[in-house]
Amino acid sequence: MTRNMICIGCPMGCELTVEVEDGKAVSVTGNTCGIGKKYAETEVSAPTRMVTSTVMSEAGIPVPVKTRTAVPKDRIFDVMKDIKNARLPLPARIGDVAITDAAGTGVAVVVTKDVG
Ligand code: SF4
Repeated sequence: MTRNMICIGCPMGCELTVEVEDGKAVSVTGNTCGIGKKYAETEVSAPTRMVTSTVMSEAGIPVPVKTRTAVPKDRIFDVMKDIKNARLPLPARIGDVAITDAAGTGVAVVVTKDVG
């Protein structure tokens, strides 16, 4: 099977063509660098995404956050539920951990902007 996808590794957005056998990428073309090859291989076998959002502070002010690393794509909804239910004391500083283990993925959610 052939899958076409656009690499999200950088703004160039290379158009990738991936030959897939038994749920694995056996060849990748169209990539300009190694990031595209790795992206295609991961996207075929176990797609992941960074999640960016806001956690509400106890004072009612939203605090920008993101997952420290990418999480499995099929867990994004659960991660967003944890983010929605979390509350942060202020002040919040860049790098503060808002959630230590989002939805049991083992991935922390961290503050991306100083607030308060
Ligand atoms: S393959 Fe490399 S150059 Fe092309 S979009 Fe992905 S990261 Fe950017």
